[in-house]
Amino acid sequence: MNRLTDWDGDPDAMPLEQARARIRDFLIPVDGTETIPLEVAFQRTLAEDVIAPMNVPPHDYSAMDGYALRIADLENGISRFELAGTSYAGHPYPDSVQEGRCIRIMTGALIPEGCDTVVMQEHVGVEGKSIIISGTLRSGQNIRRAGEDLQCGAVVLSKGCALRPAEMGLLASLGLSEVKVTRKLRVAIFSTGDELQQPGQPLSPGQIYDSNRYTLIGMLAGMGVEVLDRGHLPDDVTAMKSALLEAARDADAMLSSGGVSVGEADHIRNLLAEIGEVALWKIAMKPGKPLAFGRIGSCLFFGLPGNPVAVMVTFQQIVRDALRICMGQQPAAGLMLRAICASPIKKLPGRIEFQRGILARDPQGRLTVSPTGAQGSGILSSMSQANCLIVLPESQGNIEVGVEVEVQPTLN
Ligand code: AMP
Ligand code: MG
Repeated sequence: MNRLTDWDGDPDAMPLEQARARIRDFLIPVDGTETIPLEVAFQRTLAEDVIAPMNVPPHDYSAMDGYALRIADLENGISRFELAGTSYAGHPYPDSVQEGRCIRIMTGALIPEGCDTVVMQEHVGVEGKSIIISGTLRSGQNIRRAGEDLQCGAVVLSKGCALRPAEMGLLASLGLSEVKVTRKLRVAIFSTGDELQQPGQPLSPGQIYDSNRYTLIGMLAGMGVEVLDRGHLPDDVTAMKSALLEAARDADAMLSSGGVSVGEADHIRNLLAEIGEVALWKIAMKPGKPLAFGRIGSCLFFGLPGNPVAVMVTFQQIVRDALRICMGQQPAAGLMLRAICASPIKKLPGRIEFQRGILARDPQGRLTVSPTGAQGSGILSSMSQANCLIVLPESQGNIEVGVEVEVQPTLN
């Protein structure tokens, strides 16, 4: 760490990249698999390569409503074609098409035997039971070819692939109704703090509502994990200890929020040291400096900070990729954009900082970004207003209008 820029005097805080690498050393992908119906496969992880058992599309078909004919007839001087029948989507024309004839064909309908070209209906003249072609046609035009999307025998999706809507559709297009995936990762969550009250209950003096559990539920819901919601724990070592030990038995990973700093009621770090192992405690990032990572038995433990913005940012910057790896996926290649600062940004050198920003386009079409306003780690409304995080490197100081900065568009 660069001592000159270590402005907050905490030499134990680990640079973010180093912390990510330290955490990675502890991550083991789950080894169980299950075969599940495709309908419920969203966000799950493929447990094996998928080889196409067939071509998609399975046959040549028309991309247009029009007429199917053979190009050689045109080349031989024929321009009037006699209509011999119709090919509908799902109801092919059953016979072979003879010289000088054409078939009325609909979008998605099988190309009849003998035909090799489709002319759009807008490009022909119709005279009784014949059509007249006046322009030139290109052989094979308006035909979608068998296998042009997926070729029989090809590796369509690889082991470790996250199943998003496109992948679910691809598997369906291959006729597959089930898919082999890694078993669901079980992730336990809890909030800690004597000041917390649950939404729906009246607040006593000095209490606040527990919001972290809800942001965590929301962020985990987008990941296809099984959430074990263990509610809220008081700042009491005995109660925390038994809850953590129980969660360590039930879950692959657990996430707590709060109680991880250096206050008298902050028990998480010491408890982790007592019943498990601490691999990492402080990260040189803002928000999110206090973050205890380690494990209890084989269960990974992420002791996230208490401040609501810090919970979300540390989840997005650290936890999400770690869980992905445990699910058998690759970490996401994060999208970084460059944008021009439209308002000044305040920053002290020393820690990488993630400020909440609003990305927009200026009248010249350039991407610009402005901080949302107050950047305190308790200002959760900033996460709601923002559509990106402005990523300011460790050594960066204040930034003036017009300077380019890096931004990460918000995923969820
Ligand atoms: P702590 O690290 O436990 O001292 O918490 C830091 C700050 O975050 C304190 O102001 C807490 O009241 C607040 N905080 C902790 N947990 C939550 C939670 N679940 N929801 C909202 N605020 C919280
Ligand atoms: Mg607390």
